[in-house]
Amino acid sequence: MSARLKSWLPRVVAILAIAIFPLIPGVPEFWVTLAGYIGLSSLVAIGLVLLTGVGGMTSFGQAAFVGFGAYTSAVLTTKFGLSPWATLPFALLSTGLMALLIGVVTAKLSGHYLPLGTIAWGISFFYMFGNIEALGRYDGISGLPAFSIGGTSLISARAVFYPIWISVLIAVVLSENLLDSRMGRAVRALRGGSVAAESFGVDTARAKLVIFVYAALLAGLAGWLYAHVQRSVSPSPFGINAGIEYLLMAVLGGSGYVVGGVLGATIVTVLKDQLQNILPKLIGTGGNFESIVFGILMVAVLQLARQGLWPFILALLPRPADKTINASAPALSHRQAPDRGAPLLSVDKARKEFGGLVAVNDVSFTVKGGEIVGLIGPNGAGKSTLFNLLTGVLGATSGEVRYRGERIDGMPARDIAKQGIARTFQHVKLVASMSVLENVAIGAHLRTRPGVVSSMLRLDRGEEARMLAEAARQLQRVGLGEHLHKPAGSLALGQQRIAEIARALCLDPALLLLDEPAAGLRFNEKQQLAGLLSRLRADGMTILLVEHDMDFVMRLTDHIVVLVFGTKIAEGTPAAIATNPQVLEAYLGGVE
Ligand code: ADP
Ligand code: MG
Repeated sequence: MSARLKSWLPRVVAILAIAIFPLIPGVPEFWVTLAGYIGLSSLVAIGLVLLTGVGGMTSFGQAAFVGFGAYTSAVLTTKFGLSPWATLPFALLSTGLMALLIGVVTAKLSGHYLPLGTIAWGISFFYMFGNIEALGRYDGISGLPAFSIGGTSLISARAVFYPIWISVLIAVVLSENLLDSRMGRAVRALRGGSVAAESFGVDTARAKLVIFVYAALLAGLAGWLYAHVQRSVSPSPFGINAGIEYLLMAVLGGSGYVVGGVLGATIVTVLKDQLQNILPKLIGTGGNFESIVFGILMVAVLQLARQGLWPFILALLPRPADKTINASAPALSHRQAPDRGAPLLSVDKARKEFGGLVAVNDVSFTVKGGEIVGLIGPNGAGKSTLFNLLTGVLGATSGEVRYRGERIDGMPARDIAKQGIARTFQHVKLVASMSVLENVAIGAHLRTRPGVVSSMLRLDRGEEARMLAEAARQLQRVGLGEHLHKPAGSLALGQQRIAEIARALCLDPALLLLDEPAAGLRFNEKQQLAGLLSRLRADGMTILLVEHDMDFVMRLTDHIVVLVFGTKIAEGTPAAIATNPQVLEAYLGGVE
């Protein structure tokens, strides 16, 4: 059996099992009911897997979006007489708009402010639902119509089972498609820090908003279904407690895996039902004791299995096939190299102060097309800070930077990336859990266009093949062709730096900024890197290189700029720098 077929087998089995489950004679009605609730929760949990597990944004407020979908349909069916099917677009629209509004305000919050923000709006929407007269206050709205098909009402648990689980399957497919695409990689790259993603042209604020709205839409879909399964709505299922349960499902099942959301929803829903039966008998009085167990469970998972339980199941399944790379996919468009010898980058009195510390002190120099320029100086000299000024990661205190004659100081990092300036980072910024190939493909983000919807519908495969082929080509170029499918975190640190060069090359840069690329490389790896940089220069690439290995710098560069304590103390050819008394003084403390 081919690897591809083998990796599909578990899915086919799972789908068939779901399809026949309600039809199996002797399966109690109650189990089917429970399975329906599992499906509803799965939708919310899948959204949270993408938002929290993949995008790194923790939301306690997801239940409020379920409420939006549910209340929208409740109002439209009971007050305006619409059929339940007809309200779906409205339920999604109202949830989506609300998510957009909330997302614009909260999705950009960082650290623990975002979860706190989600708790805040989670609680406020609960009270809002409970205090609006038209929504029936805390009693809610009852007497909602059931779904119906051709005049038959889908009232029994067996009948609503299918609309619910078909929705879940669609959500799984769309979500997996989305993750496995240009936009999905942009969202997954948020994990590697927004600095790296922005430096390759990813609009991280937009990526966050997209995933926030998408997760809310899945919750709204669940709410719409819920309203007509339950046929009544009231505020309590949409409160903060429910929000915490949904989060537990996502975390427990597997925070990085779409199907993990379904697993988490299954475990939590079944466990809750069992605990509600057993605990009051054990303890002797009624109460929501299951919340205590859930709290303990959440802490245990975060301590013992950060990735949730899905990876344990994944380990038992056939390994998914490696991504296929279509080497004959048409190459991506290529930028015209700048004229050799013409000024490409001019830095004029660039200055960066951190409080009282002058990290970069009015530094000026020029990089010409087709040159390799070395930027050297002791630790703390301001080299990396200067890189951050040139690439828009930091704003300069004063001074000007011109690239191809135009000012780029003050531009955001992703606009500078668009101009064709790519970089690597002294402290490697790859997503450790993503494959080397996919990390590098992020470098090509700006060279193709596919958006969210076309990715979910798989209309992006042509462009996707071109991006992956480019990533594979650049990895082969830097000598990492054998490591395409390994997680980036499994490479040696030196190799990770080289993978960052491949990612930078994927941007098709005219100017390449390398921050200590040879650190951690063995002797012959350094030789290979030197060979690569020479070939790049021969192909018309311009390179600004920070490096401590003097042999490496002296042999490779055309021109060297020396920084000490933020100040430029010398510049010139390698030969001139090697004998410059001030440089020797700075490096060797004046020893002859
Ligand atoms: P280099 O790359 O040459 O080793 P850096 O540019 O990393 O030097 O650092 C230059 C100086 O600026 C150092 O003294 C460092 O501590 C300081 N520095 C760098 N980044 C920051 C920051 N974000 N906030 C405050 N100080 C910083
Ligand atoms: Mg540095």
